Amino acid sequence: MKPLPRALYIHIPWCIKKCPYCDFNSHEQGNPDFAGYGRALLHDLEADLERYGSIPFVSLFFGGGTPSLFPPQHLEPLFQRLKDLNLVSDITEITLEANPGTLDLGHLSGYHDLGINRLSVGVQSFNQGVLKALGRIHDRDQAVAMIEHAKAIGFTRLNVDLMHGTPGQTPAIALEDLNIVRDLEISHLSWYQLTIEPNTAFYSKPPKLPEEETLEATEAVGYEAINSMGLQHYEVSAFAKAGEEVKHNVNYWEFGDYLGIGAGSHGKITSERGFMRTQRTRQPSNYLARTNFYATERPILDGYRGAECLMNGLRLKSGISYTYFQERTGLDPIEFRTTHLMEADRLGLLKPERFQASRFGWRHLNHILEMLI
Ligand code: SF4
Repeated sequence: MKPLPRALYIHIPWCIKKCPYCDFNSHEQGNPDFAGYGRALLHDLEADLERYGSIPFVSLFFGGGTPSLFPPQHLEPLFQRLKDLNLVSDITEITLEANPGTLDLGHLSGYHDLGINRLSVGVQSFNQGVLKALGRIHDRDQAVAMIEHAKAIGFTRLNVDLMHGTPGQTPAIALEDLNIVRDLEISHLSWYQLTIEPNTAFYSKPPKLPEEETLEATEAVGYEAINSMGLQHYEVSAFAKAGEEVKHNVNYWEFGDYLGIGAGSHGKITSERGFMRTQRTRQPSNYLARTNFYATERPILDGYRGAECLMNGLRLKSGISYTYFQERTGLDPIEFRTTHLMEADRLGLLKPERFQASRFGWRHLNHILEMLI
Protein backbone atom coordinates (compact mmCIF):
# COMPACT_ATOMS: atom_id res chain seq x y z
CA MET A 1 0.00 0.00 0.00
CA LYS A 2 1.39 3.40 -1.04
CA PRO A 3 1.80 5.61 2.07
CA LEU A 4 -0.55 8.60 2.18
CA PRO A 5 0.75 12.13 2.77
CA ARG A 6 1.28 12.47 6.49
CA ALA A 7 1.08 15.52 8.76
CA LEU A 8 1.90 15.98 12.45
CA TYR A 9 -0.45 17.72 14.89
CA ILE A 10 0.92 18.79 18.28
CA HIS A 11 -1.57 19.79 20.97
CA ILE A 12 -0.74 22.35 23.65
CA PRO A 13 -3.58 22.08 26.18
CA TRP A 14 -3.37 25.24 28.30
CA CYS A 15 -5.07 28.62 28.10
CA ILE A 16 -4.99 31.66 30.33
CA LYS A 17 -8.79 31.69 30.48
CA LYS A 18 -11.42 29.37 29.00
CA CYS A 19 -13.61 31.11 26.39
CA PRO A 20 -17.34 30.45 26.88
CA TYR A 21 -17.82 29.04 23.35
CA CYS A 22 -14.79 26.73 23.41
CA ASP A 23 -15.14 22.95 23.31
CA PHE A 24 -11.46 22.23 22.63
CA ASN A 25 -9.28 20.31 25.04
CA SER A 26 -8.04 23.46 26.79
CA HIS A 27 -7.40 23.92 30.49
CA GLU A 28 -6.84 26.98 32.64
CA GLN A 29 -3.68 26.49 34.62
CA GLY A 30 -1.46 29.04 36.31
CA ASN A 31 1.95 27.55 35.97
CA PRO A 32 2.11 24.54 33.64
CA ASP A 33 5.14 22.26 33.52
CA PHE A 34 6.24 23.32 30.04
CA ALA A 35 9.64 21.63 30.31
CA GLY A 36 8.05 18.32 31.31
CA TYR A 37 5.48 18.65 28.54
CA GLY A 38 8.24 19.26 25.98
CA ARG A 39 9.90 16.01 27.11
CA ALA A 40 6.58 14.14 27.02
CA LEU A 41 5.92 15.33 23.45
CA LEU A 42 9.28 13.99 22.34
CA HIS A 43 8.61 10.64 24.00
CA ASP A 44 5.13 10.56 22.45
CA LEU A 45 6.53 11.26 18.98
CA GLU A 46 9.12 8.49 19.32
CA ALA A 47 6.40 6.00 20.31
CA ASP A 48 4.26 6.93 17.29
CA LEU A 49 7.21 6.70 14.91
CA GLU A 50 8.06 3.27 16.24
CA ARG A 51 4.48 2.14 15.76
CA TYR A 52 3.66 3.79 12.44
CA GLY A 53 7.08 4.26 10.80
CA SER A 54 9.00 7.38 9.85
CA ILE A 55 8.01 9.21 6.69
CA PRO A 56 8.60 12.95 6.17
CA PHE A 57 5.74 15.17 7.26
CA VAL A 58 4.01 17.45 4.77
CA SER A 59 3.18 19.86 7.58
CA LEU A 60 3.29 20.42 11.34
CA PHE A 61 0.61 22.25 13.28
CA PHE A 62 0.84 23.40 16.90
CA GLY A 63 -2.77 23.84 18.01
CA GLY A 64 -4.49 24.29 21.32
CA GLY A 65 -5.18 25.51 23.80
CA THR A 66 -2.79 28.38 23.40
CA PRO A 67 0.50 27.26 21.83
CA SER A 68 1.86 30.82 21.97
CA LEU A 69 2.12 30.42 25.77
CA PHE A 70 4.72 27.70 25.26
CA PRO A 71 8.35 28.82 25.76
CA PRO A 72 10.16 28.00 22.50
CA GLN A 73 13.25 26.59 24.23
CA HIS A 74 11.19 23.64 25.49
CA LEU A 75 10.31 22.72 21.89
CA GLU A 76 13.95 22.63 20.77
CA PRO A 77 14.54 18.91 21.49
CA LEU A 78 11.42 18.00 19.49
CA PHE A 79 12.55 20.08 16.51
CA GLN A 80 16.08 18.70 16.75
CA ARG A 81 14.77 15.13 16.63
CA LEU A 82 12.49 15.89 13.69
CA LYS A 83 15.43 17.39 11.81
CA ASP A 84 17.82 14.54 12.71
CA LEU A 85 15.33 12.04 11.32
CA ASN A 86 14.76 14.17 8.18
CA LEU A 87 11.07 14.35 8.97
CA VAL A 88 10.97 18.11 8.35
CA SER A 89 12.92 20.31 5.95
CA ASP A 90 13.17 24.03 5.20
CA ILE A 91 10.07 23.81 3.03
CA THR A 92 7.81 21.96 5.48
CA GLU A 93 4.83 24.14 6.41
CA ILE A 94 4.97 24.61 10.21
CA THR A 95 2.10 26.55 11.80
CA LEU A 96 1.63 27.72 15.37
CA GLU A 97 -1.62 29.11 16.76
CA ALA A 98 -1.15 32.37 18.64
CA ASN A 99 -3.45 34.28 20.97
CA PRO A 100 -2.86 38.06 20.89
CA GLY A 101 -3.33 38.15 24.68
CA THR A 102 -0.01 36.28 25.01
CA LEU A 103 2.07 38.61 22.85
CA ASP A 104 5.72 38.05 23.76
CA LEU A 105 8.38 39.15 21.28
CA GLY A 106 10.90 36.67 22.70
CA HIS A 107 8.47 33.82 22.05
CA LEU A 108 7.69 35.01 18.51
CA SER A 109 11.39 35.29 17.60
CA GLY A 110 12.05 31.91 19.22
CA TYR A 111 9.35 30.21 17.16
CA HIS A 112 10.73 31.76 13.98
CA ASP A 113 14.25 30.59 14.87
CA LEU A 114 12.97 27.05 15.44
CA GLY A 115 11.65 26.97 11.86
CA ILE A 116 7.99 27.75 12.47
CA ASN A 117 7.04 29.58 9.28
CA ARG A 118 3.32 30.24 9.59
CA LEU A 119 1.38 31.94 12.38
CA SER A 120 -2.36 31.56 12.85
CA VAL A 121 -3.62 34.41 15.01
CA GLY A 122 -6.88 33.83 16.91
CA VAL A 123 -8.33 37.33 16.72
CA GLN A 124 -12.08 36.46 16.43
CA SER A 125 -12.99 40.17 16.33
CA PHE A 126 -11.38 43.58 16.63
CA ASN A 127 -14.53 45.04 18.21
CA GLN A 128 -14.27 45.61 21.94
CA GLY A 129 -17.93 44.75 22.64
CA VAL A 130 -17.76 41.50 20.68
CA LEU A 131 -14.43 40.52 22.25
CA LYS A 132 -15.96 41.04 25.69
CA ALA A 133 -19.04 38.97 24.82
CA LEU A 134 -16.74 36.18 23.58
CA GLY A 135 -14.71 36.29 26.79
CA ARG A 136 -11.46 36.94 24.92
CA ILE A 137 -8.41 38.04 26.90
CA HIS A 138 -7.09 40.54 24.34
CA ASP A 139 -8.15 43.81 22.76
CA ARG A 140 -7.94 45.20 19.25
CA ASP A 141 -4.56 46.87 19.72
CA GLN A 142 -2.93 43.68 20.99
CA ALA A 143 -4.25 41.79 17.97
CA VAL A 144 -2.92 44.36 15.52
CA ALA A 145 0.39 44.53 17.41
CA MET A 146 0.85 40.75 17.29
CA ILE A 147 0.37 40.67 13.52
CA GLU A 148 2.67 43.62 12.92
CA HIS A 149 5.40 42.22 15.19
CA ALA A 150 5.13 38.82 13.52
CA LYS A 151 5.65 40.45 10.13
CA ALA A 152 8.61 42.46 11.40
CA ILE A 153 10.22 39.26 12.75
CA GLY A 154 9.89 37.63 9.32
CA PHE A 155 6.64 35.65 9.31
CA THR A 156 5.30 36.00 5.78
CA ARG A 157 2.55 33.42 6.08
CA LEU A 158 -0.12 34.73 8.43
CA ASN A 159 -3.65 33.57 9.07
CA VAL A 160 -6.27 35.48 11.03
CA ASP A 161 -9.24 33.65 12.59
CA LEU A 162 -12.34 35.84 12.62
CA MET A 163 -15.84 34.91 13.77
CA HIS A 164 -19.19 36.14 12.58
CA GLY A 165 -22.68 35.59 13.93
CA THR A 166 -21.38 36.55 17.38
CA PRO A 167 -23.42 38.21 20.17
CA GLY A 168 -23.98 41.89 19.38
CA GLN A 169 -22.39 41.71 15.93
CA THR A 170 -24.01 43.71 13.13
CA PRO A 171 -23.04 43.59 9.44
CA ALA A 172 -21.27 46.94 9.96
CA ILE A 173 -19.14 45.52 12.82
CA ALA A 174 -18.28 42.43 10.76
CA LEU A 175 -17.27 44.66 7.84
CA GLU A 176 -15.12 46.81 10.11
CA ASP A 177 -13.29 43.64 11.27
CA LEU A 178 -12.70 42.60 7.67
CA ASN A 179 -11.46 46.06 6.71
CA ILE A 180 -8.81 45.85 9.43
CA VAL A 181 -7.76 42.46 8.07
CA ARG A 182 -7.54 43.99 4.58
CA ASP A 183 -5.25 46.74 5.85
CA LEU A 184 -3.02 44.19 7.60
CA GLU A 185 -2.48 42.41 4.24
CA ILE A 186 -2.39 38.87 5.57
CA SER A 187 -2.19 35.83 3.27
CA HIS A 188 -4.97 33.67 4.75
CA LEU A 189 -8.25 34.21 6.55
CA SER A 190 -10.56 31.81 8.40
CA TRP A 191 -13.96 33.50 8.61
CA TYR A 192 -16.42 31.24 10.36
CA GLN A 193 -19.75 31.45 12.10
CA LEU A 194 -20.04 30.99 15.86
CA THR A 195 -21.77 27.72 16.71
CA ILE A 196 -22.89 26.79 20.19
CA GLU A 197 -21.36 23.44 21.10
CA PRO A 198 -22.36 21.09 23.94
CA ASN A 199 -20.11 21.19 27.03
CA THR A 200 -19.48 24.93 26.78
CA ALA A 201 -20.54 27.83 29.00
CA PHE A 202 -22.57 29.24 26.08
CA TYR A 203 -24.46 25.94 25.83
CA SER A 204 -25.48 26.09 29.52
CA LYS A 205 -26.34 29.79 29.31
CA PRO A 206 -26.92 30.72 25.66
CA PRO A 207 -26.13 34.30 24.64
CA LYS A 208 -28.46 36.31 22.42
CA LEU A 209 -27.30 35.72 18.87
CA PRO A 210 -28.11 37.83 15.80
CA GLU A 211 -31.37 37.09 13.94
CA GLU A 212 -31.34 35.10 10.69
CA GLU A 213 -31.75 38.30 8.63
CA THR A 214 -28.70 39.86 10.25
CA LEU A 215 -26.69 36.68 9.66
CA GLU A 216 -27.60 36.69 5.98
CA ALA A 217 -26.78 40.38 5.61
CA THR A 218 -23.44 39.81 7.39
CA GLU A 219 -22.54 36.96 5.05
CA ALA A 220 -23.42 39.00 1.99
CA VAL A 221 -21.22 41.99 2.95
CA GLY A 222 -18.53 39.70 4.31
CA TYR A 223 -18.06 37.57 1.20
CA GLU A 224 -17.97 40.66 -0.98
CA ALA A 225 -15.34 42.32 1.23
CA ILE A 226 -13.17 39.20 1.34
CA ASN A 227 -13.40 38.79 -2.41
CA SER A 228 -12.29 42.39 -2.94
CA MET A 229 -9.15 41.65 -0.84
CA GLY A 230 -8.04 39.11 -3.46
CA LEU A 231 -8.50 36.13 -1.11
CA GLN A 232 -9.97 33.08 -2.86
CA HIS A 233 -12.73 31.14 -1.10
CA TYR A 234 -11.34 27.58 -1.27
CA GLU A 235 -13.07 25.87 1.66
CA VAL A 236 -16.29 26.53 3.60
CA SER A 237 -14.59 28.97 6.01
CA ALA A 238 -11.12 29.41 4.49
CA PHE A 239 -9.86 32.12 2.12
CA ALA A 240 -6.34 32.52 0.77
CA LYS A 241 -4.12 34.34 -1.65
CA ALA A 242 -3.09 32.08 -4.55
CA GLY A 243 -0.68 29.41 -3.30
CA GLU A 244 -1.26 30.29 0.37
CA GLU A 245 -3.86 27.60 1.11
CA VAL A 246 -2.95 25.86 4.38
CA LYS A 247 -1.44 22.48 3.50
CA HIS A 248 -2.09 21.06 6.94
CA ASN A 249 -5.86 21.52 6.77
CA VAL A 250 -6.04 20.58 3.10
CA ASN A 251 -4.47 17.27 4.13
CA TYR A 252 -7.31 16.76 6.68
CA TRP A 253 -9.95 17.69 4.16
CA GLU A 254 -8.44 15.36 1.56
CA PHE A 255 -8.47 12.53 4.11
CA GLY A 256 -4.69 12.25 4.32
CA ASP A 257 -2.97 10.75 7.35
CA TYR A 258 -1.73 12.58 10.44
CA LEU A 259 -0.10 11.68 13.71
CA GLY A 260 -1.47 13.52 16.72
CA ILE A 261 0.70 14.01 19.80
CA GLY A 262 0.00 15.90 23.02
CA ALA A 263 -2.85 15.66 25.54
CA GLY A 264 -6.19 14.87 23.89
CA SER A 265 -4.81 14.90 20.35
CA HIS A 266 -6.28 12.78 17.58
CA GLY A 267 -4.53 11.02 14.70
CA LYS A 268 -5.55 9.12 11.58
CA ILE A 269 -3.30 6.47 10.13
CA THR A 270 -3.57 4.09 7.21
CA SER A 271 -1.38 0.97 7.38
CA GLU A 272 -1.41 -2.78 6.79
CA ARG A 273 -3.48 -2.97 9.98
CA GLY A 274 -6.21 -0.91 8.31
CA PHE A 275 -7.65 2.59 8.68
CA MET A 276 -7.23 3.77 12.25
CA ARG A 277 -8.01 6.76 14.41
CA THR A 278 -5.87 7.38 17.48
CA GLN A 279 -6.47 9.41 20.61
CA ARG A 280 -4.35 10.46 23.60
CA THR A 281 -5.44 10.90 27.18
CA ARG A 282 -7.09 14.34 27.52
CA GLN A 283 -5.96 15.53 30.95
CA PRO A 284 -2.60 17.34 30.86
CA SER A 285 -1.77 15.98 34.33
CA ASN A 286 -2.24 12.37 33.11
CA TYR A 287 -0.26 13.12 29.99
CA LEU A 288 2.57 14.60 32.04
CA ALA A 289 2.47 11.66 34.45
CA ARG A 290 2.39 9.36 31.38
CA THR A 291 -0.70 7.58 32.73
CA ASN A 292 -2.53 5.86 29.84
CA PHE A 293 0.03 7.67 27.78
CA TYR A 294 0.00 5.75 24.54
CA ALA A 295 -2.61 6.40 21.93
CA THR A 296 -5.74 4.31 21.92
CA GLU A 297 -6.59 3.06 18.45
CA ARG A 298 -9.91 2.32 16.85
CA PRO A 299 -10.61 1.26 13.27
CA ILE A 300 -12.63 3.47 10.90
CA LEU A 301 -15.16 0.92 9.71
CA ASP A 302 -16.13 0.40 6.07
CA GLY A 303 -19.62 1.76 6.71
CA TYR A 304 -18.28 5.11 7.93
CA ARG A 305 -15.07 5.65 5.96
CA GLY A 306 -16.60 6.90 2.72
CA ALA A 307 -18.92 9.29 4.54
CA GLU A 308 -16.08 10.60 6.74
CA CYS A 309 -13.90 11.18 3.70
CA LEU A 310 -16.60 13.14 1.87
CA MET A 311 -17.76 15.10 4.92
CA ASN A 312 -14.24 16.53 4.79
CA GLY A 313 -13.59 16.52 1.03
CA LEU A 314 -16.81 18.27 0.07
CA ARG A 315 -15.85 21.22 2.28
CA LEU A 316 -13.27 22.04 -0.38
CA LYS A 317 -14.59 24.05 -3.32
CA SER A 318 -12.59 21.78 -5.60
CA GLY A 319 -13.95 18.69 -3.82
CA ILE A 320 -12.02 15.43 -3.92
CA SER A 321 -11.11 13.27 -6.91
CA TYR A 322 -12.20 9.67 -7.36
CA THR A 323 -8.52 8.65 -7.26
CA TYR A 324 -8.02 10.23 -3.83
CA PHE A 325 -11.30 8.80 -2.57
CA GLN A 326 -10.28 5.29 -3.62
CA GLU A 327 -6.71 5.41 -2.30
CA ARG A 328 -7.80 7.00 1.01
CA THR A 329 -10.84 4.86 1.78
CA GLY A 330 -10.21 1.62 -0.12
CA LEU A 331 -13.78 1.97 -1.49
CA ASP A 332 -15.07 2.11 -5.04
CA PRO A 333 -16.12 5.74 -5.74
CA ILE A 334 -18.76 4.94 -8.37
CA GLU A 335 -20.37 2.32 -6.20
CA PHE A 336 -20.32 4.71 -3.21
CA ARG A 337 -21.89 7.50 -5.26
CA THR A 338 -24.59 5.26 -6.66
CA THR A 339 -25.43 3.88 -3.24
CA HIS A 340 -25.28 7.02 -1.10
CA LEU A 341 -25.57 10.10 -3.27
CA MET A 342 -28.28 9.30 -5.86
CA GLU A 343 -30.56 11.93 -4.38
CA ALA A 344 -27.81 14.58 -4.46
CA ASP A 345 -27.21 13.75 -8.13
CA ARG A 346 -30.92 13.89 -8.90
CA LEU A 347 -31.11 17.38 -7.35
CA GLY A 348 -28.03 18.59 -9.25
CA LEU A 349 -26.03 19.18 -6.05
CA LEU A 350 -22.85 17.51 -7.33
CA LYS A 351 -20.66 17.92 -10.37
CA PRO A 352 -20.05 14.81 -12.49
CA GLU A 353 -16.75 12.86 -12.51
CA ARG A 354 -15.53 13.77 -9.03
CA PHE A 355 -16.96 14.43 -5.60
CA GLN A 356 -17.47 18.18 -5.82
CA ALA A 357 -20.44 20.36 -4.96
CA SER A 358 -22.02 22.12 -7.93
CA ARG A 359 -22.62 25.87 -7.71
CA PHE A 360 -26.14 25.08 -6.50
CA GLY A 361 -24.86 22.30 -4.20
CA TRP A 362 -22.34 24.66 -2.55
CA ARG A 363 -25.26 26.75 -1.28
CA HIS A 364 -26.86 23.58 0.12
CA LEU A 365 -23.76 21.82 1.40
CA ASN A 366 -25.38 20.93 4.71
CA HIS A 367 -28.09 19.08 2.81
CA ILE A 368 -25.49 16.92 1.03
CA LEU A 369 -23.66 16.27 4.30
CA GLU A 370 -26.94 15.19 5.93
CA MET A 371 -27.39 12.62 3.16
CA LEU A 372 -23.99 11.18 4.06
CA ILE A 373 -24.87 10.91 7.74
S1 SF4 B 1 -8.11 30.69 23.60
FE1 SF4 B 1 -8.83 29.19 22.06
S2 SF4 B 1 -8.44 27.18 22.93
FE2 SF4 B 1 -8.28 28.67 24.61
S3 SF4 B 1 -10.28 28.66 25.53
FE3 SF4 B 1 -10.29 30.32 24.02
S4 SF4 B 1 -11.04 29.36 22.11
FE4 SF4 B 1 -10.49 27.70 23.52
